[in-house]
Order: sequence, then C-alpha cells, then structure tokens
Amino acid sequence: MKCFKLSLFALFVSGCTTLPLKVERLTPPTLSQHHIAKKVSCVRPTRNGIFQIRSDVEGKKLVTHIYGHGGAGLTLAAGSVDKGLKLFEQALTANPKFKNKPIRVVGAGIMGMWSAVGLAKKGYTVKISAKELKNLPSYYAAGIFGPAPDSMMVSKDELKLVDAVAARSYTIYAEIAAGRHPYIKRGPEPMPIYVGAHTNSGLDPLVAMGVMPTPEQVLVDFGNGKKHFSTKFASFFIHGPKLMAELHREAKALRIKIVKEHIRDLQRIPEPIIFDCSGLGARELAHDDRMVPVLGHILMLKDQPPKAERNYMVLVEANGKMLYVTPKGEGAVGSSFIKGEGRLNSHKEQYDLVLARAIDFFGGPPQRAERAANAAKLTPDS
Ligand SMILES: Cc1cc2nc3c(=O)[nH]c(=O)nc-3n(C[C@H](O)[C@H](O)[C@H](O)COP(=O)(O)OP(=O)(O)OC[C@H]3O[C@@H](n4cnc5c(N)ncnc54)[C@H](O)[C@@H]3O)c2cc1C
Repeated sequence: MKCFKLSLFALFVSGCTTLPLKVERLTPPTLSQHHIAKKVSCVRPTRNGIFQIRSDVEGKKLVTHIYGHGGAGLTLAAGSVDKGLKLFEQALTANPKFKNKPIRVVGAGIMGMWSAVGLAKKGYTVKISAKELKNLPSYYAAGIFGPAPDSMMVSKDELKLVDAVAARSYTIYAEIAAGRHPYIKRGPEPMPIYVGAHTNSGLDPLVAMGVMPTPEQVLVDFGNGKKHFSTKFASFFIHGPKLMAELHREAKALRIKIVKEHIRDLQRIPEPIIFDCSGLGARELAHDDRMVPVLGHILMLKDQPPKAERNYMVLVEANGKMLYVTPKGEGAVGSSFIKGEGRLNSHKEQYDLVLARAIDFFGGPPQRAERAANAAKLTPDS
C-alpha cells in the first residue's frame, strides 16, 4: 500500500515517469512547552514592494541607500552590499568632487557592518553611527537562505533584480563556506531545506539560472507517523551572530569607529558621503513611507536531538500560514508575520501558535512518549 502511494506521487511529480520517490528519514525536533529555551520577537525592516538599493547625490551629500529587505535580509545581504558598492562607485565617478572624502555609515545591522567593512577594504575612511548595536534582527533572524519576499509584490524587472541579488549572495555564501572568501570565514553553512508544496522559497529562479543545483522531490518521513512531500534544495543556513562577529572583527582590525547615536537627518552628518543602512529607520531618514515593520516570533529550543541529526531546515506554507525551522542554537522555530506591528512585546499569543503549528507538522510529545515507552520495553528490568 505504501509503495502504491509513493509511486502515485512519483508519477505526479516527475511528469508521468515512474522514478521511485526518495524517502528521507529525518529526526524531528522535540516540541513541547518544556523544550522552549527562549522566546524571541523581532521586527523585519520591510519595504513594501522591494528593498531599496541606490546611490545618488541628495542635497549636499552622495547617499547610498541599502535597506528594506524584510524577512530576507541575511539571504540578500552579500549581494545587496556588493550591488550598493558598485552603484556607489559609479555615482562617485559621475560626481568626482566626492572622491577621497570620508564616509559615514548609518546602521550596524548586517547591511551597515558589511558595507562599512567593504568600503574600508577598498581604502575609504569609514565611521559607523547606529542607534542600536546588538538588539537587532541581524542577530535574531532564523537564518534561512531564501529570498522569497514577505510582501514583495514586485514587477517583472524588480523580480529580476531580486533574483540577481539573491544569485550574487548565493555565490558569495558558497565562497565563504568553501573557505575562499577573502575575509569572512564563518556564518553561512551549506544546508538542505525541505520546502513544502505550494510554498514559495524564492529559490527556483536560482536553479533556473544555474546558480543552484536542481532540487530533489522527496518524501520526508519523521518516523513518528508524520510524512511530507517536499522539494529539497541545496541552500545555506546563515548564522547571523557568527556572520556579525566576523564583520565586527574585521571592522576592529580596520579601525572603523562605531558610535552609538541616533541620527535625525542625513544632511546634518558632517561627512559628505553617506551609506544609509538604517533598516526601519529609513522611514524617517530617507522619508520612505513604503517602510513597514513586520513583527515575527521565534521559539529557541532546548534539550533537542544531537546536532548531527538537526542539520536541515524546513519552510512550509499551509492555509496562508508559514512555518520555518533552522538548526540555530538547538533549533529555531518561527511562523508569524504581523505586518504594521513594530511593538516587540505585542502578540504574545503567537508563541503558542508557533508551537501548535510546529507540533502539527512534526508531531509532538505523544509520539516522543511512545518512543520512550518502546525504549523502556527493551530494558532488562521490564
Ligand atoms: C523573526 C525574524 C526572522 C528572520 N529570519 C530570516 C531568515 O531566516 N533569513 C533571512 O535572510 N532573513 C531573516 N530575517 C530578516 C533579517 O533579520 C533582516 O532583513 C536583516 O537583519 C536586516 O538587516 P539590516 O542591516 O537591514 O537592518 P537592522 O539589522 O535592523 O539594522 C538597522 C540598523 O540601523 C540602525 N538605525 C536605524 N535608525 C537609525 C537612526 N535614525 N540613527 C542611527 N541608527 C539607526 C539600527 O539601530 C540598526 O543598527 C528575519 C527577521 C526576523 C525579524
């Protein structure tokens, strides 16, 4: 019966060939209220439509904006900064009076830190100003490489830009993972991601471009009765805190000064050149009313199966609700996207909803208890 079901799916997914479907047995996370180490909320700096990357003279300053990547900022950081630096150097060539002038970077999230380090590596004098240095989404993000935008209702040209930036990021992360990046050694790790049916991971265009390997259709079997048809992509897990630590180490070595301060007006910054990497701050600083907060809640797990069994990620969307899981710490599970909400302490009911969704997908404590009972039956005393 089982084989019959599988070959039906094989027929379905492979366009009427009868290739057997690969079954992948994975260890599910152990999910219950007792397995939550920490509840984290943070806000995605989301720009309605598409992120902003541009460089132009504004007033008396040459300003480069890199912000608004929503729930895909870790994914798109490498490619976005690369593009921002290129646009900046083109703008500099067109406006030579700014040559050899010092630069102020606003923001110390991943965009700001990477821009500052990239600029200093090229020989520019850089200083960073940031309202907040540590309590940032760049540290809290789950870490999936997946460019699928939360709210990017983009035109065809914009979509091409998202794909190009994602493809550049993927290539850079592959360089880092292979030890071939000139200064970043840690952060992204090659990691399979199992994407549910009808779930847009944003990875298909990278496959079509030949940047990523062709994904596999697999049946994920959690060994507890829960099985899911999935598309398995060769993605990356991006460990935000490790990547940020690399950038801070480089910034220190390059003597980049980082000052904690709230910038109110880009035109009042003394430096003639500005990189605006202020995330949600761009709503005021760049007068960009397309910037909106999108609140997310993440459960950080504890007492989980060994690391070697947790080296995979999941992204599924069902009934308009997302569930994502990564191996960050002992496991990070999230699902909420509350648009327009910037209050970190709000919508606390979401933590229970995240757990319920995850238990529904992976199976919960009853299966675990059953396994323990089975194991107990095998002990000599029983
Ligand atoms: C729950 C959640 C899960 C996520 N999961 C993923 C994921 O799996 N994969 C992924 O790719 N991405 C994920 N993200 C998204 C990712 O975290 C963000 O897109 C990314 O960190 C944004 O980086 P940033 O540098 O643009 O902004 P931020 O990290 O927000 O940094 C902005 C900086 O600007 C400073 N600033 C703002 N205004 C001012 C001002 N007026 N003056 C001075 N400084 C200012 C801030 O203090 C801060 O230093 C997730 C985000 C959340 C919230």
